[in-house]
Amino acid sequence: MPDTTLPNSWDARAKQNSFFGFTDLPSINERGTVILTHGEGPYVVDTEGRRYLDGNSGLWNMIAGFDHPALIKAAQDQYARFPGYHAFFGRMSDQAVMLSEKLVEVSPFADGKVFYTNSGSEANDTMVKMLWFLHAAEGRPNARKIITRGNAYHGVTAVSASMTGKPYNSVFGLPLPGFLRLTCPHYWREGREGESAADFLARLVAELEEMIAREGADTIAGFFAEPVQGAGGVIPPVDGYFDAILPVLRKHGIPVIADEVITGFGRTGSVWGCESYGFLPDAIISSKALTAGFFPMGAVILGPELSDRLQRATDAIEEFPHGFTASGHPVGCAIALASIDLVLNGGLMENVQRLIPRFEAGMAKLADQDHIGEWRGRGLMGALEAVRDKATKKPFEGHLSVSERIANTCTDHGLICRPLGQSIVLCPPFIMTDAQMDEMFDKLSAALAQVF
Ligand code: PLP
Repeated sequence: MPDTTLPNSWDARAKQNSFFGFTDLPSINERGTVILTHGEGPYVVDTEGRRYLDGNSGLWNMIAGFDHPALIKAAQDQYARFPGYHAFFGRMSDQAVMLSEKLVEVSPFADGKVFYTNSGSEANDTMVKMLWFLHAAEGRPNARKIITRGNAYHGVTAVSASMTGKPYNSVFGLPLPGFLRLTCPHYWREGREGESAADFLARLVAELEEMIAREGADTIAGFFAEPVQGAGGVIPPVDGYFDAILPVLRKHGIPVIADEVITGFGRTGSVWGCESYGFLPDAIISSKALTAGFFPMGAVILGPELSDRLQRATDAIEEFPHGFTASGHPVGCAIALASIDLVLNGGLMENVQRLIPRFEAGMAKLADQDHIGEWRGRGLMGALEAVRDKATKKPFEGHLSVSERIANTCTDHGLICRPLGQSIVLCPPFIMTDAQMDEMFDKLSAALAQVF
């Protein structure tokens, strides 16, 4: 594919000195990059003045849009008051204290403790280290294996990438040893010919039982799951999934960690995804909507049992030797407090609940065409799976996946949506109006008509 980059353009400058991650290079060589300068509500604007409705909330995180005054004010006020930070050695900011109290209060836990990171990947890494430390301190030094599922996404650090069930990590020689993978609980794709959803679920439960028996329960440190798999292609689990597998994990004393980096703070229609699916984990991993994308921040929220055990283990050696320079940055904490307030008291949660029926209707309408195999989702996250043949679920073939062609065509129509595998993902900001949601579906519909 010829590179059509114009000399001295933003595109050329970006390509000269920026190394692109998660970007299809043939696509940007052919089409150029989109260099953004600012945002207006749920829209972003590029260097050419083109506006794009962001159907993906940035990367699932900009729930309040790109210029929310309450978040800008929280950041400005805190930068003026105290921009620096002390996170360790017995010091922390007042904002971090208040945010920890708030996170425990809004968590599904009766009590607990919070540890701050700069990202979701780091929060998952931190949780794994906490589990390794805890098990060793309690006399189970061999309890180091981590169970996740196919198509899971838990991040990009060496540990969280090892937890991620995406084949592309093999280019790094990952996963590391000891990271175990269960079948992705996606009935439409993983269910066998003639297998009912109930039989599929029974097979997943049996697979978990067999894995624990084969590996030895005393070698397993924990189980991590996204309530709805996000970057795997928006995959809600088969009905009854968590109700069926949690008793198995509980029976063997395996801690259950909900990775709520995407689902936390309202995305599924409840504050937490685990609430939407009616289960109580032992800890929650949070990021993204935690600060509405206005600050890089992650948090491990430990429920009462894990926090008590971790505290006892730490007391015994007098220090938990872990943390990041910017853990609990006061500006991030101040923004998170403002963002949580917007979600819970500022109308965002209500708007999510109000928008869900419109979102579901829009997705269902688009799915009613020959080349969409299924639409799936929960709350304000959804995916349309493109297929060449609806009956056989055969995917399209070709150099550029059909979902990438659809997403590129959407960009031409002024809509950002995300290609993930063979699916097109939508994950709109919580501030969207009805008219903006209709605009999102009209643009996607026009792009589908063009590509199919
Ligand atoms: N966990 C989940 C469920 C995610 O979706 C992501 C990112 O998309 C991560 C972890 C990693 O977060 P980050 O990109 O902030 O490291």
